[in-house]
Amino acid sequence: MRERMVLSGEQVLWPDGTLAGGWVAVEGDRITQVGRGAPLYPADRHTPFLAPGFVDMHCHGGGGHTFATTDPEEVHAAAATHHAAGTTTVVASLVSADPQTLLEQVRALAPLVRGTMIAGIHLEGPWLSPLHRGAHRLEDLRHPDPAEIDALLEAGAGTICMVTLAPELPGGMEAVRRFVAAGVVVAVGHTDADADQLREAVDAGATVVTHLFNAMRPLHHRDPGPVVAALADPRLAVELIVDGVHVHPDVVELTVRSTLSRIVLVSDAMAGAAAADGRYRLGPMDVEVVDGVARTLDNGSIAGSTLTLDRAVRTGVAAGVARCAALLSATWGPARTLGLDAGQLAPGHRADVVGLDRDLEVRLVLRHGEVLRDDAAAGPGGDD
Ligand SMILES: [Zn+2]
Repeated sequence: MRERMVLSGEQVLWPDGTLAGGWVAVEGDRITQVGRGAPLYPADRHTPFLAPGFVDMHCHGGGGHTFATTDPEEVHAAAATHHAAGTTTVVASLVSADPQTLLEQVRALAPLVRGTMIAGIHLEGPWLSPLHRGAHRLEDLRHPDPAEIDALLEAGAGTICMVTLAPELPGGMEAVRRFVAAGVVVAVGHTDADADQLREAVDAGATVVTHLFNAMRPLHHRDPGPVVAALADPRLAVELIVDGVHVHPDVVELTVRSTLSRIVLVSDAMAGAAAADGRYRLGPMDVEVVDGVARTLDNGSIAGSTLTLDRAVRTGVAAGVARCAALLSATWGPARTLGLDAGQLAPGHRADVVGLDRDLEVRLVLRHGEVLRDDAAAGPGGDD
């Protein structure tokens, strides 16, 4: 018989986006019961906040390890770093590389998606604008080529869940349609698209904007570009890197207020996340992390973040975002955007749960029912 574990919280994030007291029962790798108010059973653990495990749909690595590799151990180590921090669902993002390297990385990662260590593969590039390349090497950027796209889709065999591309490139709109037809979520990013080009990409099936504001044509009041179009278009989910570095706190607050449930917090974490300052690689690029800020050595561009999503939530709340909105945008927001079985505390869903203290620091992590971290208090009515 499977043992039942009962978690209670003063504030539980419910699927409707509200926070209210309640409890969650877990058996095996599934949530079996939930309820508002006092638990029906003695609680094993009790925390001020209970939320679904965080879902990071844009993440390059962590703990000194990168997803841009063909070594499964390296992928495991990077994913495990984020799992332990409460991000129980991690999409592995690859940066632009030459065609052969990218194919080999996709082939190496695909079995790990099927093994549920990572939730999917995100190709960030190589079809990006040279004008907004950020931490992607110029020589790795190219125009979308149907043959390369088909080869990558075949190598991924259903595990590529999202691509980031610049739709204004020659062949860009055709690439959007090709990926959407293959069931891949298309994100517009690292782009010089104007507002009309962004809308054309959305009409072609794009549903996400990659890290709004960063690595795209900037907002100007006479040239609103992709930013205003993304804020206004209800068909788009909007990624935001909330680390206190990529986007000013006032802009974070304004963006969340104007897009509400369409915001998706992403880490865009590189290998230096949850690790010490120092030298790391981001794909083929050398990156230096100083005081937790990652920059490329070649052009000093910000090169991903050192975030984990729990800190993104706290940083968002410190910027004035409501707790329920911040938690929702790190859980159900990304899960819904990618169609993942995650991000909801409801019976039948995978038992991915985080317990947080009053400062929203992670105290308890369950992933697929397995306890990865346990600094929580025994529950009221528990046997402690
Ligand atoms: Zn990225």
